[in-house]
Amino acid sequence: MGVPQPVRKLNAFPVFMRVTGRAVIIVGGGEEAFAKARLLAQSSGDLVVVAEHVEPAFADWLARNEIPSLRRPFEASQLKGASLVFAATGDETSDREVVEAARALSIPVNAVDRPELCDFFTPALVNRAPLAVAIGTEGAGPVLAQKVRARIERLLPPSLGALAALATGYRSLVEQLVEKGQPRRSFWNAFFAGEAARNVEQGDIESARRAADQLLLHPEEAAGHVALVGAGPGAEDLITLRAHRLLMEADVIVHDALVPEAVVALGRRDAERIAAGKRKGCHSKSQAEINELLVSLARAGKRVVRLKAGDPLVFGRAGEEMQALRDADVSYEVVPGVTAAFAAAADFELPLTLRGVASSMVFTTGHDLKGASLPDWARLAIDGATVAVYMGRSNAADVALRLIKAGLSPDTGVAVVENAGQPGRRLLHGTLTDLPALAERTDLTGPVMTIIGDTVAGARFDRSEPIAATHNVPVECGASR
Ligand code: SAH
Repeated sequence: MGVPQPVRKLNAFPVFMRVTGRAVIIVGGGEEAFAKARLLAQSSGDLVVVAEHVEPAFADWLARNEIPSLRRPFEASQLKGASLVFAATGDETSDREVVEAARALSIPVNAVDRPELCDFFTPALVNRAPLAVAIGTEGAGPVLAQKVRARIERLLPPSLGALAALATGYRSLVEQLVEKGQPRRSFWNAFFAGEAARNVEQGDIESARRAADQLLLHPEEAAGHVALVGAGPGAEDLITLRAHRLLMEADVIVHDALVPEAVVALGRRDAERIAAGKRKGCHSKSQAEINELLVSLARAGKRVVRLKAGDPLVFGRAGEEMQALRDADVSYEVVPGVTAAFAAAADFELPLTLRGVASSMVFTTGHDLKGASLPDWARLAIDGATVAVYMGRSNAADVALRLIKAGLSPDTGVAVVENAGQPGRRLLHGTLTDLPALAERTDLTGPVMTIIGDTVAGARFDRSEPIAATHNVPVECGASR
């Protein structure tokens, strides 16, 4: 617990000014005035620029946006009836003149970069009209405000404005039909977090209306939903913004063992967390049990995030889960993630395709190499494809020997990354001849990605060690293949 902070008072209190149908006047034709004009153009106020001389880029912009300008010297009478005035001449005496004129007419005025002359300050703005987030710092600086703004931009889906507009349309109907207090709060919760919101996010306003109507008629039947979400390779900042948002909205997070705690912890604090297991040699739920779990959670009206390492559609058994959800008529969506092969390639600065060297790539487990005949991907490798081997530690020898037998040069480069994309990653390099040694590297306890091909030669090796083992530590339960 920290020391309690005294509650500080705001010297400038945020309010939202009505501007629609009224003039907003900017005095000035230079850079400062242009910046303010761009900000104010996000409102439906009638923007007017007053300046004898307007810089060419600003003039072009005004013309393109059909914003009128008075190209003559400033006079107090120009301000009559305005809702807001901006003094942005770049000259102190002129700005003062504008400020005094506005004050004489009781119009709030802002003087750019002259806080001592301002009645109000302009915020950094996150615009999801009709919803707006305004950020003010009272002069602690625009850089701080922009940083905060960037974080909020990431949190709010671009479709939030459309959703807020839809909500506005339902307000009076909800007031008539849904009892005040808890029932009404529940309705809006389900509206903003449920099917209507998801439809708006997909750009399908018609379906959103249907979902909202349905919710009005049967508020007790709020539909559950499952998002099959790629968590990326395990670093908290290699997850997509959409995945992060869904995690923060989830009621339940069902995650694989490969997804590190820190990534699961990005989720809503009070979300229920269920580990679905799936690490070699450890107890875990069967795929059928996981399918059933997802269906039953969604049927109970929960928003479920099924969090999978990397990309959910790459060796993630998402196909079976999607089939089960479809069969049960449960709504679901898929959110892609950074797959292990891409994270490993980035760690090694290894081009997966390279002009004149490799123009295709293969994602494989190598587990289909056991039979007598070569799988198609082995031929692709011989033709120069870059091969990414998932779950390829225990059968590394098989993969190497069979590829060599099939005609791939034993000198072909191999790059191996344990815990790709994570701070504790380890990089190893060698050739196909060295690859069998990987199965003996019991000191590697994290997930391992193997990349084979001629493009490996273009990777960066100054941070990697040879594949051949130097020391061994016994494997414990929890190691993946
Ligand atoms: N859907 C996942 C793959 C799941 S299969 C994805 O798209 O990445 C599990 C295998 O993925 C592991 O055995 C390992 O080969 C690979 N893998 C997953 N995360 C990894 C990581 N951070 N580093 C290296 N390999 C990883």
